[in-house]
Amino acid sequence: MINKERILAEFCELIRLGCASKAEREVGDAVKAKLAAAGLTVSEDDVAGKIGGNCGNLLGFLPGTVAQAPRLMFSAHLDSVAPCDGIEPVVKDGVITSSGNTVLGSDNKAGIVGVLEGLRVVREQNMPHGDIQVVFTVSEEVGLNGSKNMDPALLAADFGYVLDSGGAPGGIINAAPGQNNIKVIVRGKSAHAGVAPEEGINAIVVAGKAMAELKQGRIDAETTANVGVISGGKATNIVPDYVEIACEARSRNLAKLETQTKHMVETFERVAAANGAKAEVTVTRMYEPYVLAEDSQIVSLARRAAASIGLESPIGPTGGGSDANYFNLYGVPAAVLAVGMNKVHTMEEYIKVEDLNKTAELVVALIKTAAKKEA
Ligand SMILES: [Zn+2]
Repeated sequence: MINKERILAEFCELIRLGCASKAEREVGDAVKAKLAAAGLTVSEDDVAGKIGGNCGNLLGFLPGTVAQAPRLMFSAHLDSVAPCDGIEPVVKDGVITSSGNTVLGSDNKAGIVGVLEGLRVVREQNMPHGDIQVVFTVSEEVGLNGSKNMDPALLAADFGYVLDSGGAPGGIINAAPGQNNIKVIVRGKSAHAGVAPEEGINAIVVAGKAMAELKQGRIDAETTANVGVISGGKATNIVPDYVEIACEARSRNLAKLETQTKHMVETFERVAAANGAKAEVTVTRMYEPYVLAEDSQIVSLARRAAASIGLESPIGPTGGGSDANYFNLYGVPAAVLAVGMNKVHTMEEYIKVEDLNKTAELVVALIKTAAKKEA
């Protein structure tokens, strides 16, 4: 049904193209042409201008041939993390790696190729299908910029699947945390460290006292927090008056996210004040959490589709954010599906050829299952 040689060739073709975040034009143009060749109406949105990139999100639409089917969206991202220039695929014993100086880019070309092949198969075999929308985003790896900045009105689906997780194809991510970034500036008072240290207020020490009181790491089953970056101070003979700390908090439960964030803000402010310093704290919501019920249509359709091609479909939460966080926020329920990519964001990234094939088969199965009456 699927064409395995075509899948492998296309995967190797696409990962070689330029796809750094905000510079996806080369791969974007190639994928646009492929979507059009698969019979979709293709457009590019205006996100490039909004984020300072050279390519916008690509949108494809294939009108349905059956009326009652749910309108499905398939999504993946066009960009890869650095280093991703000049990727050379090495295929050995059914496994694809890079030549070692770059990532492989299966994150997320495995998803892109799975969707492209699935759409071609649907067309070649004249399979009945409902409306299908494809959303290939840009700049996902540097802050979900493509989905974050897109016009939600462009989405035209009842629900969708983001093909962007590790794990064996068939696996379903039904929940993800929301995240707050918490930037803290502690202002103390500088003084000569040898001549008049008592005149100073050491911002680094004050920050340290606050951090020692901070609940961080694993807070509970759905909540985490981390102090990630600290910078400040100029020399050993100066009492530092300034230190900057970058923290984050995540939770799949919005109330817990707020509680943890409040605790972090309050701790820095209180400890700074108690030590004659001042903490300026800025909280930025990076993305919202989501939880899709295990008996929801989106999850049950994915499970039936996986079962129809003999794949297990374990279901569970992730600790990371993805474009699905934004699609869910925009009112289009979106689950993340596993595509078999491994060790992503490293130069040891790899994927099995058979997982590329299974991902394409799963896309076909999803379209087929959705078009059946009982869907
Ligand atoms: Zn990804």
